[in-house]
Amino acid sequence: MLRIFINYRRQDSEGYAGRLFDHLLHHVEREQVFIDVDDIPAGVDFVDALEQAVSACDVLLAVIGPQWATMADENGARRLHQWNDFVRIEIASALRLGKFVVPVLVGRAAMPSPGDLPEDLLALARRNAIALGHHSFARDVERLVAAIKEAVPANPAFKPRPNFETLQRKDEALRTIRAEVINAQTSPLYANRIENGYFPVFGEGSADANLMFIGEAPGKNEAKQGRPFIGPSGMVLDEMLAGINLKRADVFVTNLVLDCPPVKREPTPEEIAFYTPFVDRIIDIVQPAVIAPLGRFATGYILRKLGLSEHKGKIGELHGRLIRAAMPYGDIHVVPLYHPAVVLYSASQKELLSKDFEKLKVFV
Ligand code: URA
Repeated sequence: MLRIFINYRRQDSEGYAGRLFDHLLHHVEREQVFIDVDDIPAGVDFVDALEQAVSACDVLLAVIGPQWATMADENGARRLHQWNDFVRIEIASALRLGKFVVPVLVGRAAMPSPGDLPEDLLALARRNAIALGHHSFARDVERLVAAIKEAVPANPAFKPRPNFETLQRKDEALRTIRAEVINAQTSPLYANRIENGYFPVFGEGSADANLMFIGEAPGKNEAKQGRPFIGPSGMVLDEMLAGINLKRADVFVTNLVLDCPPVKREPTPEEIAFYTPFVDRIIDIVQPAVIAPLGRFATGYILRKLGLSEHKGKIGELHGRLIRAAMPYGDIHVVPLYHPAVVLYSASQKELLSKDFEKLKVFV
């Protein structure tokens, strides 16, 4: 699904941006258009927050009115040239991230010349603009949408619906790995599994899911049934999923470690080393466009696997961020999340977790 970000300067073109928004809704769904980044929580780096919002979109429409480049603050300094100007940050992010950026001229504005632009926006001067005329607004928006649809390849964050054969092939491939995990007698957790009559917990959900969650390790509840997240943490996960209109069957849920450890504890490096080759293969089969590792172990593993410098970061800094990465099968986003169990230890974390899950909304 194509995502369009409308960037505008309130005092310069709020009315035009609103009219553009309304007209776009004749061509695309409401959830495909982002017009305002609000709700940036206190203490959050707003440059990061804006960049993340832009990174989730495919197209940025830079609405340029007559005062776009010249508007000044109370000290007479041009807003566009200030480092903390939201308009500038969003456009610069989109250009840097290689998004399809279209200058949209309104109110008879002319295209700013390179001399008007700060260095990080210079590339904007070379983008072909489209002017929205007062009387030709609807037709002009139609042209704009046609240009976008032609230029923007399918967003890697949204896979086309799989056909029956694809699903069958993927289910079959997952079954092969499942059988290997069942027979994994060299696993450091195999003896514990047999002693307790446990099952390995391979993971479940759609074999072609767009969104994959990776937890830490199954607990007893899970191991008794061989299904991930069916205990108290699972109830939290289900509630979070429901909050963004998702069901388990829409996603794929697995863990970093696929057997239950003998006592409630962190997974050991040995266990992680044993199970992650299986997890890697599950990822390669499902090919999710978005991986949401739950908790610090899964987050650390996925970020390290993808060669992302963020792996050095703490989950407290990384949670809820949209991190772009490349997999052999295509570009993806990693969205680290707190483990749902945080809510069981501290109910006040529920709101934070829900907010982070909201970030996944742009992908569903
Ligand atoms: N916690 C996890 O990390 N995984 C589960 O499957 C259940 C609880």
